[in-house]
Amino acid sequence: MSVSILGSRESGQNIRDTNVRAVQAVANIVKSSLGPNGLDKMLVDEIGDVVISNDGATILRSLEVQHPAAKVLVELSRLQDQEVGDGTTSVVIVAAELLKRANDLVKYKIHPTTIIAGYRLAMKESIQYIKDYLSVKTETLGKDAILNVAKTSLNSKLIGAESDHFANMIVNCVEAVGIVGPNKDVKYPIKSIKVLKCIGLSAKESVHLNGFALMTGRTAQGMPTSIKNARIACLDFNLNKFKLQMGIQVLVNDAKNLEKIRIRELEITKERIQKVLKAGANVVLVTKAIDDFALKYFVEAGAIAVRRVDKKDIRKIAKQCGAEVLITLMNNEGEEVFNESSLGSAEEVTEERLGDNDFIFIKGMKKSSSQTLILRGANEFMLDETERSVHDAICVVKRVLESKSVVVGGGAVETALSIYLDSFARTLGSKEQLAISEFAESLLVIPKTLAINAAQDACDLLAKMKMYHAASQSSSEEKKQEYKYVGLDLANGKVRNNLKAGVLEPTISKIKSLKFATEAAISILRIDDLIELAPKPEKERDGH
Ligand code: ADP
Ligand code: MG
Repeated sequence: MSVSILGSRESGQNIRDTNVRAVQAVANIVKSSLGPNGLDKMLVDEIGDVVISNDGATILRSLEVQHPAAKVLVELSRLQDQEVGDGTTSVVIVAAELLKRANDLVKYKIHPTTIIAGYRLAMKESIQYIKDYLSVKTETLGKDAILNVAKTSLNSKLIGAESDHFANMIVNCVEAVGIVGPNKDVKYPIKSIKVLKCIGLSAKESVHLNGFALMTGRTAQGMPTSIKNARIACLDFNLNKFKLQMGIQVLVNDAKNLEKIRIRELEITKERIQKVLKAGANVVLVTKAIDDFALKYFVEAGAIAVRRVDKKDIRKIAKQCGAEVLITLMNNEGEEVFNESSLGSAEEVTEERLGDNDFIFIKGMKKSSSQTLILRGANEFMLDETERSVHDAICVVKRVLESKSVVVGGGAVETALSIYLDSFARTLGSKEQLAISEFAESLLVIPKTLAINAAQDACDLLAKMKMYHAASQSSSEEKKQEYKYVGLDLANGKVRNNLKAGVLEPTISKIKSLKFATEAAISILRIDDLIELAPKPEKERDGH
C-alpha cells in the first residue's frame, strides 16, 4: 500500500533526469561567458533595470531561478564568490558536468553511493596533486607573478583591454593595506579598500589614491581645501538650529522674550560647535545636517566641515583615525562637553575635484592606511561591471599575497588533473574506478569551453594539451617536466607554456572550486525523491 500525499512525487531516475536538465540549463547560460574571449550577458529585471555582466555569480544571482536543484548551483557560485571572489563561472560549469556524467553512470546501473565515493576520492587526489605538483610558489616567479594573477582575472572582463593599468593599480592598492599579524604573517583586509564610481572619462583614467575618500565636498566655500595634521571629530547628530521637541508648548507674553528664545536656539548650536572646535578639531564630519548659519563658525576657525557622511564611512574613518563617533555631547551629569580624546588624527585632509565630483581625501590615518580606487567609465553599466571585475581581481591578489602560491591557468591544471586521475583510476581495482574516470573527463570541460568561446578548434587543442601533459607525467626528463605548465593560447589557437606567458591563478581558487563543485554535484546526486506538497486551499488556511 502506498502512502497518499497531497501533492506530487517524483522519484528515482525521473527526478535525477529533471535535476540534471535544470542544472545543465543554468550552466549553459554562463558557459559562453567563460574565459578571456567569453561574451557578456545583459539582464533586465522586472522593473527594467539593466545589468551587463560577465561574472558567473552576478549573472546567476540576477536570474530568479525556481528549480530547487538549479538553486543549489546559484548558491554554489555565491559561495565561491564569497570564499574566493573569482572562478564563479568555472565552478558552475564543472559542477554541472560532474552531475551529467554521474547521471549517465547511474543509467549504466552504478549505484549513486559508489559514484559519490568515487567523486570524493577523485577530489581528494586532485587537491593533493595540485598541492604537490602543480602549484608554484610566487617567490620563484618574481614580482610580475602577482601582476599576472591580477591580469588573468581581468582579462576575461570588459576592462580586459586596460588590464595592465588596472593590474598595477590593484596590486599597489592591496599591498598598501597589508598589516603584519602577531605571527609575522601579513594579512590584507580588503575592507580597507574603498571603491568609488565616478561617471565620466574612460576606464583608463581610473586612479588609485592613498587614503580614504568621501564623495562629497566641504560645506562652505570659505573653508580651506587642505589641512595638514588634521584633528578629526566624528559626530552622529545634526548641527541644526536647536528645536524643542514636538508637543512642547511655550507660552510667551512679551514679544521681546520670543526674540530671546530665537537667539538662544541659535546659541545652543553655536556653543556645541565651539566646544568641538576648542578641543582642537579642524575637520568635523557629521552624518546629518549642518545649518547654513552654523557654517560661519567653521569658516572663522579655518576648519573643514562635511555634512551627510554615510554612517558606515564615518564608523570606518573613526576606527582608523582613532576617533570616537559621538551620538550626543551630553555626559553623565547632563552637561554638554567635548573631550579631546574623542578626536582622531590624520596627516592630511584635502578636497580635490575629479570629473564632475568633489572628493574629500583623508590621508595618512593613524591606525590603518586605507586605499581608494576611483573608477571612471562612460556609463553606469560599464562602471558597475568595472567595479565587479576590480573586486574579483582584488580578491585574487589578496589570496595570492597571503598564500604565496599560484597555479597555471588556461586549462593547464584541469588537463593535468584529468590525465593524472585517469591513470590513478586504473590503479584501483574497485567499482569507484569508473566514477573517477568520469571525474577526470568532466574537468576537461574547462579547456574545451575556453577553446570554443575563443572560436578555436577544441578537439585539436585538447588532443595536443593531453599529449604534453601525458608526456610530462610519464617521464622524469627535466625538459618534459615543463610540459605540465602547457595551457591554451587562445588568441593564436595554439598551446604554450602558460607559466612563461603569465596566465596565473591563485591555487586556493582552483582547490576551493574543485571542492565546492564536487560537493554541489554530490548533494544533487543524492536526491532520489522530490515531494512537492500542493498549496493548501485558501479557505482552510483562513480557518473560517
Ligand atoms: P571565472 O568566473 O570562472 O573566473 P572567467 O571568465 O574569469 O571565469 O575565466 C577564467 C578562465 O579563463 C580560467 O580558467 C583561466 O585560466 C582562463 N584564462 C584567463 N585568461 C586567460 C588567457 N590569457 N589565456 C588562456 N586562458 C585564460
Ligand atoms: Mg575570473
